[in-house]
Amino acid sequence: MLIETHAHLDYPDFASDLDDVIRRATEAGVTRIITIGTSVESSRRAIGLAEKYPNIYAVIGVHPTYASEAEEDVITPLRELAKHPRVVALGETGLDYHELPSIALAKKRGTHVFPHQALTQAVAKALQYSTEEDIEVVIHDGAYKSKQASLFEQQLDLAVELGLNVVIHQRDAWDDTLKIMKPYTDKLRGVFHCFGGTLEQANEVLDLDHLVSFTGIVTFKNGAAVRDVAAQVPLWKFMVETDCPYLAPVPFRGKRCEPAHTRIVAETIAAARGISLEDVAEATTETAEKFFRFHR
Ligand SMILES: [Zn+2]
Repeated sequence: MLIETHAHLDYPDFASDLDDVIRRATEAGVTRIITIGTSVESSRRAIGLAEKYPNIYAVIGVHPTYASEAEEDVITPLRELAKHPRVVALGETGLDYHELPSIALAKKRGTHVFPHQALTQAVAKALQYSTEEDIEVVIHDGAYKSKQASLFEQQLDLAVELGLNVVIHQRDAWDDTLKIMKPYTDKLRGVFHCFGGTLEQANEVLDLDHLVSFTGIVTFKNGAAVRDVAAQVPLWKFMVETDCPYLAPVPFRGKRCEPAHTRIVAETIAAARGISLEDVAEATTETAEKFFRFHR
């Protein structure tokens, strides 16, 4: 019995065959699926699915990459939606600096730039950011980051207010994400979903009583480092997920991913730890049952 803790079942990828997708999950022993909202509208759809299917639950929130399109006030609708009994956490929220405007520009020019370098004066200079357009792009980076940070903090505040935990999305923004979460230590717990960091980074968040969760990346040829981390973190400190429709595990890599593949993720981690699938299933299920508000 496994819990798929991170799916995007409201995405159009699942529109035509969701019944089959859910049946295959059940057959694979994935008995509960948490579908994650990425905007207010997507959160509404997630709740709709949770109403329709008894083994689906919803997490509601606004994803950082939606920051620029997000409505002025997302908290009023999220607070309202959170009253629904099938809502088990808030998110996904966090920071994502992968597609900063300056990085897009650098790519266009064929210059390699590491995300954490973006925005600094030195980097701007090195890239010869000098035209009006360039300077505008750098200003844009700042605005984009602060919009993400504000949305993130507002959702963390709402989580504290409602006594819910939070699904965290972090990409190329590790330090800023932890800095924002620091004041919320002991007030809420977060799960750093699709964890791809080092063992040190995992321990850093586990020490703050947060969790990590692993996707099909643990099955990838180039996923050895993440697989090692999944083999070493304490058994009661992580959960399993697919992040479907993305990140289908081997041997389905490149195809549409689906919740049934949570089993492959769990099997891979079990093999890496030298324990049974049942052991991983039991521990991750208990961890998810404590983290998400399934009953009220
Ligand atoms: Zn996601």
